[in-house]
Amino acid sequence: MYGICVKSSSRALTNNIRREFSTTATKDAKHYPLVIIGGGAGGCSVASRAARALGAGKVAVVEPAKNHYYQPMWTLVGAGIKTVDQSAMPMESILPKQCDLHKYKAVEFDPQNNTVTLSNGEQLAYDYMVVGMGIQINYDKIKGLVEALQQDPMVVSNYNKDYVLKTFPAIKSFKGGNAIFTFPNTPIKCAGAPQKIMYLAEDYWRKHGVRDKVNISYNTSLPVIFGVKKYAARLMEIVKKRNINVNFRQNLVQVDHHNRKAVFQLLDSEKGETETYDYDFLHVSPPMSAPEPLKNSKASMVDAAGFLDVHKETLQHKTFPNIFGIGDCTNVPTSKTAAAVACQNRILFKNLQSVMSGQAPKSLYDGYTSCPLITSYSKCILAEFDFDGQPLETFPFDQGKERRSMYHMKKDCMPQLYWSMMMKGRWAGPKIFRKSMHLGMSR
Ligand SMILES: Cc1cc2nc3c(=O)[nH]c(=O)nc-3n(C[C@H](O)[C@H](O)[C@H](O)COP(=O)(O)OP(=O)(O)OC[C@H]3O[C@@H](n4cnc5c(N)ncnc54)[C@H](O)[C@@H]3O)c2cc1C
Repeated sequence: MYGICVKSSSRALTNNIRREFSTTATKDAKHYPLVIIGGGAGGCSVASRAARALGAGKVAVVEPAKNHYYQPMWTLVGAGIKTVDQSAMPMESILPKQCDLHKYKAVEFDPQNNTVTLSNGEQLAYDYMVVGMGIQINYDKIKGLVEALQQDPMVVSNYNKDYVLKTFPAIKSFKGGNAIFTFPNTPIKCAGAPQKIMYLAEDYWRKHGVRDKVNISYNTSLPVIFGVKKYAARLMEIVKKRNINVNFRQNLVQVDHHNRKAVFQLLDSEKGETETYDYDFLHVSPPMSAPEPLKNSKASMVDAAGFLDVHKETLQHKTFPNIFGIGDCTNVPTSKTAAAVACQNRILFKNLQSVMSGQAPKSLYDGYTSCPLITSYSKCILAEFDFDGQPLETFPFDQGKERRSMYHMKKDCMPQLYWSMMMKGRWAGPKIFRKSMHLGMSR
């Protein structure tokens, strides 16, 4: 019933949108009521909801990748707890069958004419578009890093499906020396991941009798260890107890793997000074940026930093009301995580349905995001917070404490939730559980 309602109002709105936005007719473009750019966490969860409501042949997904990866698992892959294969599913098996999959990149947007051009030259026309292209990883922005990742077995990174395969062998074979973990001077996805792998490595080295021979440094561009005060205070206690050096406002700019040296820019130095460290093990969290194709838009769709410019609560584009954005490619001011996407996908889809029916978007996102800060092979702090960095915890106990239960939540429950609920468009985040566990007293 609801689906039929959406289908007919979608037709009516198609005409409105064409009248309001189109300046030139685009010939030969295949037309869809809804085009979704990206089949990752955001794109796939919205595609599942949309396919159910709109039916077969109405939704196109543009996605070049062969596999869909559950990237939050890569921290566990780097620690030898899971394999990269466990984090992957063939893209065609995860996207709903009712969607038309276009296995190309989106390369150019023309939001005034409601079209997008793909890397094979094909054009798609849409009534509505959802953009969920993720964030772009830029290993090449650090001098010498790509070569080091390819040639030095002790230079590793959990932020890529191939490089993450190097991490655990390097941790296992490490016999002592300087181990450095970095955090870049850019927005990143999962701001906790650069330090989670450090705690796991430290735990591994301690249990395997090499900890006394290792100096561990966390060199971060940030002035704090974590953006939320409550969890930052707990993490500072942990690094102190475990003898980990934290060097704030240091940004990796060069790796010389022949001499095993890593050069850091001192961000607070007015003279632009650098500091060079000898490394024996180096885990790099790379610089990231908004996806390049978003900048190749015939009319600007992005903010000054290049991220899709959406209203932070409704997720509707600020200039083009028939465009919505989800996840890491948007300028929604919250920590970029799959947990944030879990909440956003339902809010986005409800608002999309409202707009399709000629109404204003009413569902509002509160910025909910979460970071399971794994601190060892058996403990985890489950950070959950909102736009203002205020804790928004699901369970009725102090989640700032390291807990075994939260470790199993991250390792065993969350992957299940992701594959069997979120990717099917049936998971909207933990709000319902939070409310019931706090007897209705929580937001
Ligand atoms: C090491 C690591 C650890 C993490 N840990 C956690 C965690 O513990 N908890 C958590 O909640 N989150 C975690 N995350 C973050 C989480 O994976 C992302 O925030 C989430 O996947 C964002 O979803 P998205 O849909 O915005 O982007 P993605 O899931 O990255 O999907 C983007 C999709 O867009 C496609 N795409 C890119 N360019 C184009 C183009 N031009 N045209 C068409 N398609 C395109 C890509 O191929 C991709 O499939 C982690 C990430 C990493 C790397």
